[in-house]
Amino acid sequence: MPIQVNKPYLPDIKKYQKYLETIWNNHHLTNFGPLSCALEERLCDYLGIDHALFVANGTIALQIAYKLAGLQRDDAIITTPFSFVATTSTLLWEGLKPVFCDISPTSFCIDTHKIPTLITEKTKAILGVHVFGNPCEVQALQALADKHNLKVIYDAAHAFGVRLIEKTSNAQTAQKGTSIFNYGDISTLSLHATKLFHSIEGGLIIAKDPAYITEAKKLINFGLANALPTTIGINAKNSEFHAAMGLCVLDDIDTILQERQRIWEYYYKHLKDDFTTQTLHQNASNNYHYFPIVFPSQEELSKALTQLNALKIFPRRYFYPSLDDLSFAPTPYACPISRDIASKILCLPLYVGLPQVAQDSIIHTLKTLKHAEA
Ligand SMILES: *Cc1c(COP(=O)(O)O)cnc(C)c1O
Repeated sequence: MPIQVNKPYLPDIKKYQKYLETIWNNHHLTNFGPLSCALEERLCDYLGIDHALFVANGTIALQIAYKLAGLQRDDAIITTPFSFVATTSTLLWEGLKPVFCDISPTSFCIDTHKIPTLITEKTKAILGVHVFGNPCEVQALQALADKHNLKVIYDAAHAFGVRLIEKTSNAQTAQKGTSIFNYGDISTLSLHATKLFHSIEGGLIIAKDPAYITEAKKLINFGLANALPTTIGINAKNSEFHAAMGLCVLDDIDTILQERQRIWEYYYKHLKDDFTTQTLHQNASNNYHYFPIVFPSQEELSKALTQLNALKIFPRRYFYPSLDDLSFAPTPYACPISRDIASKILCLPLYVGLPQVAQDSIIHTLKTLKHAEA
C-alpha cells in the first residue's frame, strides 16, 4: 500500500449507520437539519467558541467571510503567499486584490513587521493563515488592524483545537488558554477529509459577533430570509450526511490527537537535529496537524522525494509554489522568503494508522541522505 501524506480518518461504521437511521427517520437531509445543528453546538463547546456555522467547505467559507467583512471588488487585502492555493484563489474569485506580505522564515506565518509599508487607502483587510496550525501574531495583527481600521480574517483551516495562552490571562484561562478562533473578526475552518477533524467535505465560519453568523446563514442559503430573497446569496449549505460524519469523528477526537502527537513527536525526536523545523508559537498548543521539514536546498529535497517515492512513500510539497508565484495570477508583490521556503519544504506522512515501519523508513531514508551530504 502506498503511503500518502494523509489518510482520512474513518470512524466506526456502525456508529455512522446509526446516524443514517436517524436521518431516515427524520427525513431531513439538508438545510440546517438537527444533526448539523448538533454538530455546530458540540463544536462550539469543544473548541471554546461562541458561534459557528457549518458550511459546504473551507473554500466557500472564506468567500462568505469576505462578504461578511463587507469587502468589495478591487479592495486590497494584505495576505500571505505561503498557504494552500484557496487562500489566494478565493480573493481573486471575489475580485479582491491580494497584496502579498512576506513570511517569517521561522514561523512560516505572515511577517507582521512587514505589513505597515503595504497599507494604502485601498487596504480593507488582513487575511492571515495559521500555517500548519501555528498561530499568527494575533495580538500584534489586531493592533495594526485597529490602527488602520482594517478587518482581520483568518484562514484557520489547519488550526482545529489550537489554543493560545495570553500573557495577561487570568487564572481561569491560564491553564487551557482561549481558542485561536476567538481572534480576528472572522475565522474559517476546513473540515475536508484530509484535515485533522473532518466531515468528509465541510467548513466552519466562526465569529464572536453573532450578527455575522445570522448574516452568513442567509448568504449560504441563496440570500433567503423568511423564504424571500433579500440579498445576493449562494448555496453553501452542508448536509446531514456530512454532519453525521463530523459527529462520529468528534467522538474520537481525543484518540486522534493522541495518536498524531505520538507520531509527530517521534519525527521530531529523530529529525530535529538534521532538518529545520517550524518554530512554534511559545504560548500556543500544538495540534500536530502537519510535520514539515525544510531542506538546505531544492536539490536535496528532490533527491529525498525521489528516494521516498521509490519506496512508495509520497510526502507532499506543502506549500508549493509560493502564491506570489502563481502562473495564472501574476502579481507585483514578490516574496523571496516565502519562495525560498516553498522550494525547500516537505510535509511528511502524518495520520492515524501510519504504520511504524513506514515512519521508520522515512526517518532512515532522510537521515541517510543527510549524512551522505555531509
Ligand atoms: C484545506 C484548505 C483550504 C480549503 O478547504 P476545503 O475545505 O478543502 O475547501 C483552505 N485553506 C487552507 C490553508 C487549507 O489547508
